[in-house]
Amino acid sequence: MTVPPAARAEVRAFRILLAIGDRMPKALVLNATYEPLCVVPARRAVVLVLGEKAELIRHDDRVLHSQFLTVPIPSVIRLREYVKVPRRRRVSPSRRAVFMRDDHTCQYCGQRAENIDHVIPRSKGGPHVWENVVASCRHCNGRKENRTPQEAGLRLRTKPAAPRPHTLIAALVGSVHPHWMEYLAG
Ligand SMILES: [Zn+2]
Repeated sequence: MTVPPAARAEVRAFRILLAIGDRMPKALVLNATYEPLCVVPARRAVVLVLGEKAELIRHDDRVLHSQFLTVPIPSVIRLREYVKVPRRRRVSPSRRAVFMRDDHTCQYCGQRAENIDHVIPRSKGGPHVWENVVASCRHCNGRKENRTPQEAGLRLRTKPAAPRPHTLIAALVGSVHPHWMEYLAG
C-alpha cells in the first residue's frame, strides 16, 4: 500500500473514524517471522500499515473510505522488521483465564465453577502457577479447605497446565478473531 503525501492528516482522520466505532475491532500483530506478538486496536494497526511499518496480512470485509484512501480494517498485520522480543515471562494465571481454560467447570466434580482452587494449598507452599490452580465449585472448594485433593478425597479430572496461546489471548482480549487462529495455533 503506497501512502500519498497528503495522507498524514488522513491517518489522523482514520484514527478518529475508528475511535468512534461502537466496538473497537482489534488486530493481531505478527513479528517479521510470523510469530504472534500482541493484539492492538485496529486503528493502531492502520497507522502501522500506512506508516509502512507493517504489512496487511488479513482484513475484515469492512473498509474505511476517505478523500484519499480506502483502508480495509486490519485483522492481522506483520511487522516489516524483526523485533527482538525478550524471552516472554510466563503469564501468571488470572481468575478469568483459569475459568476460561477450565470452561467454567469444577475440575473435581464437573459442576459449574465459582472459585479458584490451589491444588496444593497456598498454606502448604503451593505456588500460584497454571499447574497448581483449577476452577472449582463452592461445594468442592469448601470440602477441600486447606488440604490436598488426596487428603480431601477429591480427584482432579484433568492435569492442570498452561493454556494454549489462543485461550490466553482470548482471556486477555475478550475474544479471538477467526483470522487469528492459524497464527496462534501451537
Ligand atoms: Zn465441584
